[in-house]
Amino acid sequence: MQFAALAERAERVAATDGDIETTLGLADLLADAGPAAGAEGDGSTDGLPVVTRFLLGRVFPAHDTRTLDVGPALCREAIARAAGPNVSAADVEDRLAERGEIGTVAAEYDLGGQRGLAAFGEGRDALSVAAVDERLRGLAAESGDGSESRKRDALFGLFTRCSSSEAAFLARLVLGEMRLGVGEGTVRDAVAEAFLSTDQESDGDDASDDDNSDGPALRASDEAAAAVERALQVTNDYGRVAVRARDEGTEGLRAESLRVGRPVQAMLAQAGTATDAVDSFGAVAVETKFDGARVQVHYAPADPGSDGGDAAESDGDGLGPRLYSRNMDDVTEALPEIVEYVSERVDVPAIVDGEVVAVDDDGDPLPFQEVLRRFRRKHDVERMRETVSLRLHAFDCLHADGDDLLDEPLRVRHERLREVLPDATADLTLADDPEAIAAAERAALDAGHEGVMLKSPESTYTPGDRGRDWLKRKPDVETLDAVVVGAEWGEGRRAELFGTFLLAVRDEGAERPNDRGTDGGPTGDDGDLASAGYATVGKVATGITDEALADLTERLATHVVDESGTTVAFDPELVVEVGYEEIQTSPTYSAGYALRFPRFVGVREDKGVDDADSLTRVRRLAGDG
Ligand code: AMP
Repeated sequence: MQFAALAERAERVAATDGDIETTLGLADLLADAGPAAGAEGDGSTDGLPVVTRFLLGRVFPAHDTRTLDVGPALCREAIARAAGPNVSAADVEDRLAERGEIGTVAAEYDLGGQRGLAAFGEGRDALSVAAVDERLRGLAAESGDGSESRKRDALFGLFTRCSSSEAAFLARLVLGEMRLGVGEGTVRDAVAEAFLSTDQESDGDDASDDDNSDGPALRASDEAAAAVERALQVTNDYGRVAVRARDEGTEGLRAESLRVGRPVQAMLAQAGTATDAVDSFGAVAVETKFDGARVQVHYAPADPGSDGGDAAESDGDGLGPRLYSRNMDDVTEALPEIVEYVSERVDVPAIVDGEVVAVDDDGDPLPFQEVLRRFRRKHDVERMRETVSLRLHAFDCLHADGDDLLDEPLRVRHERLREVLPDATADLTLADDPEAIAAAERAALDAGHEGVMLKSPESTYTPGDRGRDWLKRKPDVETLDAVVVGAEWGEGRRAELFGTFLLAVRDEGAERPNDRGTDGGPTGDDGDLASAGYATVGKVATGITDEALADLTERLATHVVDESGTTVAFDPELVVEVGYEEIQTSPTYSAGYALRFPRFVGVREDKGVDDADSLTRVRRLAGDG
């Protein structure tokens, strides 16, 4: 594909309204990018992998540690030179300040007008995407003395061959800021749409969108999009995945696997409480949360050994240990003792996920800042090694001895991890109640660690995903003992039961008539029916079992003092314990505060309304008291 065609079509995609229209435009562009579609192409070169990466502002796949290393200043200088003798880098900078974006600036200068200066022979030909890719890869390979000016020359040479839309695309590409409004998800969907939509795939999957709707619709199935997503997770290379999808369909994508030496994105965690974990996982895998830097360890024995056969390609072919950061940067050189540690112990091809922590002379963990002194260091590595000692804690295993383990449950991956690297494997204990989790957390904190991670023992490893299968424990907040002052009847199946309960705390400042026998009293600012002497703070409907609901309804039905539509007010009688995520100021309730995500814990049988929590405590819990 010609670079000009890519630049112009990308501009059109960027100007398209609507997500589906954008995806369809991108899919057309991808379909025309390579020789397989027979559209344009430049002889034998397949433009598809390059076009796919370029659209995401990349020359190299995400797992590749090479970078262009072209900064904004170098780019401005190259543009200035291509713009001719009357334009200086400072002029380009001024214009950039006005326009706010380098592509627009590059497009405004007549860069191709300098063609006569730089171009001989091939320079007169239009640029293909393959030629641009080759030049940029060459530029990335420059290093050492004078590399800066050789990069500038190379970029200048490219700019002199650019039309205005090509110049805009190139400037954005080298700085990695495409501004097409096209994210990774859109490219994934476009790959599925271009190469796996129902009329290309013979297996007749249902299209994910409604064919009967009037507007444009995507035809690729959810299954096709998932196959693309999975291939991306294991390869981290959009270009490679696009080609696979085009040439081999979903089957080919499913055949993609992990490769030792090709890092994948780390699985991430969300914040959650012990109760959340027990509620969602039942038995919870509890691990120490180490306070260090994430590291992905790849290891391939120097001699692939008796494995033989096909294992070599996927198993890294004698790579030795390589270490990658959370952003997939190669940090091997900075961590020689981890390299030695792994070399001495691991003897099968493996990919292991873990955390590197700094430790003191007794082996106790040091704060996270200490690891940073070591992690990306290029100089003085040996000297710093004397100053800050490191230790590896491994907590997951993605690949072992020829087996990809992403789809295995955590408990199985952990077993494999123990086989691969027993000394470094972090303990995993199973707990099924919040008390046991709290005890594990106290032990982790006492040992100087950050806390605990709570994981589903059945969960698979999903690279790059910040899902609910891994929770970093957030301390549970203190619960509140509130008085139930009102309720709303349920709906449907639960119409005979109360569904939502209005909660209040004692308002010591307000006049409170005799506790019993009030007439229901005035309403709060919120308009909810509420008793005098109480200030409402929220409504709770979650965490109540059917049984508890029936019990609450029966107990409260005799205390109704007022009714309006489906809402009732109670004589203050019952105290319930509620959990919540936080307390915020809010005009909705008469207390001036609202519980966020309140959750029913139980009835406080031991408490009367005079023992319920007060507005003063609510203020304190909200941080105002
Ligand atoms: P945070 O950086 O606060 O989002 O917490 C998640 C990070 O905790 C992960 O990316 C890891 O670097 C780190 N971590 C420490 N111990 C563990 C563990 N046992 N399992 C998973 N991640 C852990």
